[in-house]
Amino acid sequence: MCAAAARRGRVAADEPVATTPGAQRQILTDSSAMTNKLFKTDAEWKKELTPEQYRVLREKDTERAFTGEYWNHHQPGIYRCAGCGAVLFASDAKFDSGCGWPSFDKPMAANAVGEAVDHSHLLHRTEVLCARCGGHLGHVFDDGPKETTGLRYCINSASLKFEGTNSAATTGKKK
Ligand code: FE
Repeated sequence: MCAAAARRGRVAADEPVATTPGAQRQILTDSSAMTNKLFKTDAEWKKELTPEQYRVLREKDTERAFTGEYWNHHQPGIYRCAGCGAVLFASDAKFDSGCGWPSFDKPMAANAVGEAVDHSHLLHRTEVLCARCGGHLGHVFDDGPKETTGLRYCINSASLKFEGTNSAATTGKKK
């Protein structure tokens, strides 16, 4: 335990958030911690993404609940990053959280996503980013299914691109 933090009675703003049981979760405090990075200029992203994808992935916007393409989507397959195509989540990790955004209890691989502390909107949240391109995906909370990880990766549909099992030649995961 950090004695200094205990004396202060709160966690310092720059300390990683420990919301959970996920020991292998990757905390990113800046983009340099990302591996296998993909860098593009803002102009390139703007040209390649739809306006909504750009707002969410590059400007950290949040789509309105119950409006995205995947919040009520139940097909088997994988979800890739809409920005760079990296494989992020599998359909078998998706669950119905009732929150209006696609919810997963874990990423496809521990290093597929990174995390950063987010103090925007006067909240203390853990942002989830694509580990490859740094695109904003959503946030992770510790109110997920207790019988699995206890985590809820609350992800914007606009950050994702679904690929059905039939078209996913290599998912790296067997049912
Ligand atoms: Fe990406």
